[in-house]
Amino acid sequence: NLQPLNMPNRLLLGPGPSNVHPAILAAMNTPPVGHLDPTFLNLMDEVRSQLQYVWQTDNQMTIAVSGTGTAAMEATIANSVEPGDIVLIGVMGYFGNRLVDMAGRYGADVRTITKPWGQVFSLDDLKTAIETHRPRILALVHAETSTGARQPMEGVGELCQKYGILLLIDTVTSLGGVPIFLDEWGVDLAYSCSQKGLACPPGASPLTMSARAMEKLQNRSSKVANWYLDVNLLGKYWGSERVYHHTAPINMYYALRESLRLITEEGIENCWQRHQKNVEYLWESLEGLGLTMHVEKEYRLPTLTTVCIPPGIDGKAIARRLLDEYNVEIGGGLGELAGKVWRVGLMGYNSRPESVDNLVEVLRQVLPK
Ligand code: PLP
Repeated sequence: NLQPLNMPNRLLLGPGPSNVHPAILAAMNTPPVGHLDPTFLNLMDEVRSQLQYVWQTDNQMTIAVSGTGTAAMEATIANSVEPGDIVLIGVMGYFGNRLVDMAGRYGADVRTITKPWGQVFSLDDLKTAIETHRPRILALVHAETSTGARQPMEGVGELCQKYGILLLIDTVTSLGGVPIFLDEWGVDLAYSCSQKGLACPPGASPLTMSARAMEKLQNRSSKVANWYLDVNLLGKYWGSERVYHHTAPINMYYALRESLRLITEEGIENCWQRHQKNVEYLWESLEGLGLTMHVEKEYRLPTLTTVCIPPGIDGKAIARRLLDEYNVEIGGGLGELAGKVWRVGLMGYNSRPESVDNLVEVLRQVLPK
C-alpha cells in the first residue's frame, strides 16, 4: 500500500522548475470549472492581456499552450515553418540545438550559426549569416539556460525586417525576469514556460505571434503538421468563436493568472530590477567564496548563472550533498558544459536575498576549505 504523498520541501535554485509562489499554490487549490465555462473563458482573456503586458506586445495571438516550454517551442516551429523553408538558427547552447532538431522534423532546410557556449551573437554575425543563407525565419534563444548567456536583441528585428525574415525567439528563461520588449524589438514569434520566472508549476506555456507571423500561417499551402499545436485551431478556442479544442488544464491556468496578477501588482520593471539586484548579490557572494562565473558580466542572465566548478572538485557530488543534506537544489552543466559548471537559478519567487544567503551558507559548509 502506498503511503500518503510526502515530498521534500526543497529550495529550487536550479535551472527550473523554481519554487511556486504560495499565492499561486493557493489559487491552484480552487476547484476547477469547465473549459467552456464563461468564467473560464473570461480568465483566458485576462491571461492574454497580462501576457501581452509582461512580454510588452500588442499581438492579438497571445495565448498559453497546454504543455511545458517545449510544447510552446514546437508550436512556434510547427506554425511558422513550411517544408523547404530555409530556417537560420543561432546555436550557442543546448536549446539552440533543440530548435535545430525540431525545425528539421517539420521539413525546414536548417542552417546554423554557432558560438562557443557562453558567448552571444553580434549584429554583424547575424547580418553576415542572413546574407549568406537568405532564410525565411531567424530563430534565436534570448536566454540560453544551458550557458547563462543573454542574447542582445537590439537591432535584430530591424535587420530581419530589412530582409523580409520572421524573427522567432525563445524566452523560456527570460519571461518575467529579464527585460523583453517584443514589439519594440520586432519579434514575430516567441514562447516561454510557466515554471521559471512566472513561479508556477510546469504545464501552461505562453506563445505569441505577430500579424506578420499570422499572415504566413494563413497563407501556407500545407496544413500545420501538428493538430494539437495548430494555432488556426487554438485561435478558435482563444478567440471569439470559443470552439472546443482540448480540455484545458484548468488549474494550471488559475496558476498562470495568479502569477501574472502578482507580476502586474509588482510592476514588470520592478520585477526585472529585483532579478538584476538579487543576481548581482549572488555573483558578489559567490566571488566571496572564491568562485568565478562562466559568462562575461555584460551578457550574464539575471535569472540563471553558470558558476565554474573549481579544478579538482566533483561538482556532481557537491550538488548531491546540497540536495540530500540541505534540501537545496542547484543544476549541473548540460552538453558541452557538463562537469564544468553548476547552474544556479534565481527566478520569480526565488529571486530574493534570502535565497542567495541560504545557498552561500550551505556552499560554505560543503566546499573544501
Ligand atoms: N528553452 C529553454 C531555453 C529552456 O531552458 C527550456 C527548459 O529548461 C526549454 C526550452 C524547454 O522547456 P520545458 O522543459 O518546460 O519543456
